[in-house]
Amino acid sequence: MALSRTILHVDMDAFFASVEQRDDPSLRGRPVLVGGRGGRGVVAAASYEARRFGCRSAMPMAQAVRRCPSAIVVPPSFAKYEADSARIMDILETASPLLEPISIDEAFVDVTGSLRLLGDGPTIAADLKRVIRDELGLNASVGVAPCKFAAKIASDLEKPDGLTVFEEEGLAVRLSTLPIGRMWGIGPKSKARFEARGIRTFGDLQNWSAESLVASFGAASARFHDLSHGRDDRPVVGDRTAKSVGHEQTFGVDLADPREVEGVLLRHVERVAARLRRRNRRARSIVVKIRDGEFVTNTRSRTLSEPTDRTDLLWETARTLFREWKFRPVRLVGMSAERFEEAVPDLFSAGDEENARNRRLDAATDAIRDRFGGEAIARTASAFPPG
Ligand SMILES: [Mg+2]
Repeated sequence: MALSRTILHVDMDAFFASVEQRDDPSLRGRPVLVGGRGGRGVVAAASYEARRFGCRSAMPMAQAVRRCPSAIVVPPSFAKYEADSARIMDILETASPLLEPISIDEAFVDVTGSLRLLGDGPTIAADLKRVIRDELGLNASVGVAPCKFAAKIASDLEKPDGLTVFEEEGLAVRLSTLPIGRMWGIGPKSKARFEARGIRTFGDLQNWSAESLVASFGAASARFHDLSHGRDDRPVVGDRTAKSVGHEQTFGVDLADPREVEGVLLRHVERVAARLRRRNRRARSIVVKIRDGEFVTNTRSRTLSEPTDRTDLLWETARTLFREWKFRPVRLVGMSAERFEEAVPDLFSAGDEENARNRRLDAATDAIRDRFGGEAIARTASAFPPG
């Protein structure tokens, strides 16, 4: 019998829109659409006031504005969202080192090892929500469950500002009334196929045998059978066990200014470097991922001459990789560090002035970030000497 786990899924409510409403009081209580106005502009986030008009993220901006003509369109400030996200992840990590960010505003936290110290799952979830609200003025919805799948579903059930708990006992029954549209990996097409066979809820899926599901819908559907019962043994992968540490961000618009993209890339590098240092890891290779406006993805990597956790060295390589790419408007930029080695005290470079200076800078930055949050120390891309 598997060990019982307590997993939190934390998801910020209308993240980009809530950040904008926090920072500009005139936007509070009003329908806000974050995104580009241009011809190909897409809604990156809609405030709850705008959602009442049927506006959704990923919708073309023109369509959203037709649905809600009174909406205020705000251009996105991705570097700002990155800074808030870094602070949120730092807060979540106070509950457990088993933190797995899955997007800029969403993460799993396995708090099983923290229960004796911090209280039960719902207590930890309520504490995290309160700290995020007090420190950042933002609301999170949290799901608490014995597995990732159920935690993810739970966080969505009582949005905004939700806290939903699924106990292990009776989990399958609790899930049984959910519509199959909430199942991971079931899009509109699969949904229609299932519904044509009378499968409308998780309970309907539970009532089929795994064998007959596979016979009717293919091998992948066996998994749906397990998930419908709340059986999901995927672990939360924290940085300690991860093979790579990275950050990436999709923009709802094409960023046409290379300096703006470099600014976001630098934030990614700072966060990755801070995570490496916290984990006592050094990385031997760097990967930069860029997706252009035509959705063509380019992945470039470089091996470093020696493993490092220094922000300036990681940035130098990431920026070089980015600048070697022939620039065109960008939809997504990401950066990750891979091939880890344990950091050992480095006796031989003790006399290396430059190394020592950069390490002191990194240590000071980490200390400030821990205390005041990422925004307090966001360096500008130009703070580094041109190279
Ligand atoms: Mg969210």
